[in-house]
Amino acid sequence: MIIAVDGPAASGKGTLGKRIAAHYGLNHLDTGLLYRAVARALLDEGKLLTDEDAAIAAARQLDFHTLDEARLRGAEAGEAASVISVYPGVREALLRGQREFAGQKPGAVLDGRDIGTVICPEADAKIFVTASPEERAKRRWLELQKSNPALAYESVLADIRKRDERDSGRVAAPLKMADDARLLDTTKLDIEAAFQTALGLIEAELAGKKEPK
Ligand code: C5P
Repeated sequence: MIIAVDGPAASGKGTLGKRIAAHYGLNHLDTGLLYRAVARALLDEGKLLTDEDAAIAAARQLDFHTLDEARLRGAEAGEAASVISVYPGVREALLRGQREFAGQKPGAVLDGRDIGTVICPEADAKIFVTASPEERAKRRWLELQKSNPALAYESVLADIRKRDERDSGRVAAPLKMADDARLLDTTKLDIEAAFQTALGLIEAELAGKKEPK
């Protein structure tokens, strides 16, 4: 079984993806980490994020098994990831590994931007998780404030808007809800309510697929 969870930055898709995977006993891949790792590799080597060839080379060399999640979190890597993720060659280099991951037994939950549209168009269930930019900025700001108390909410909101625009406006695999995905708006839901709603949507989708045509 493959479940695709897509959505914009700070929509809660990562947390949901993890919990959905644990619930069904599936593997889980946060595909944002792949793009973050490519961007991080460039920054570590002192290369420019605009160096498309270097980004493609880094994507080709990426080992999915050695992603250092703690190092890849944070606003800088996220912002940098959204710059290199516009390059079709980077996306192409990461495609096969994602599909292989999805194909491993017993199945997987992948979360990202293009899982339902490009990586796993045949997923058994697809959820598009969203929330208003203001709510997403509030959640991100509360989280980041712990390490940076001086951080202004307005600057987090501006970053979220910029990232939405870049992710939705790019030509290669833009952030877009798949035609057959189910929408989950978490603006007014806490994580528990969002998780229960997600399970309901997945179960409805799976039950629909079992019905004789
Ligand atoms: O999900 P996360 O915020 O960690 O992703 C960081 C960036 O990586 C996104 O803003 C997006 O530009 C890129 N990304 C992508 N496709 C994915 C996952 C992430 O382009 N499947």
